[in-house]
Amino acid sequence: MATPDPHEVAAHDQSESHRYVVHYPEHGSRPGDPHYKDFDHYHRATKDDPELYQCAVGRRRGDFSDCTLDKPLELHHTHIEWALQNEVDLALLARQYPGVDTPDEVGAWVETAENLEWLCQFHHRGHGGAHVASASDFEGQHFVRGLIS
Ligand SMILES: [Zn+2]
Ligand SMILES: [Zn+2]
Repeated sequence: MATPDPHEVAAHDQSESHRYVVHYPEHGSRPGDPHYKDFDHYHRATKDDPELYQCAVGRRRGDFSDCTLDKPLELHHTHIEWALQNEVDLALLARQYPGVDTPDEVGAWVETAENLEWLCQFHHRGHGGAHVASASDFEGQHFVRGLIS
């Protein structure tokens, strides 16, 4: 019989919680935002398209078994949350997304397909959600079934 590896860690469950402060800049009301119509347009233009109206996590996995499929999908700001746009550093944004040069263009870009994706409720606001799980756990669940519950 082989000697067990003393450094091997058995499968285990670990409760996670994260607490930190987000410094939100001043922002107006969502319905009063001049670019809200773009969000609304993207929402309407893609909601009935079965190629686009899919949870992005499920789509990347090619497997929707961990998705919440009995509730409507939710549109998520992938890179820049709407409430953060007033303090976006244009030089930092330009490194990844060149061509967005003014605060108004940032406001418009925030509501485009480059910054919007559909997520199921679990992968948006649930325990495995982009707004809940750590970045490493959120990413890891693409490749490990049932990672987060
Ligand atoms: Zn999902
Ligand atoms: Zn979101």
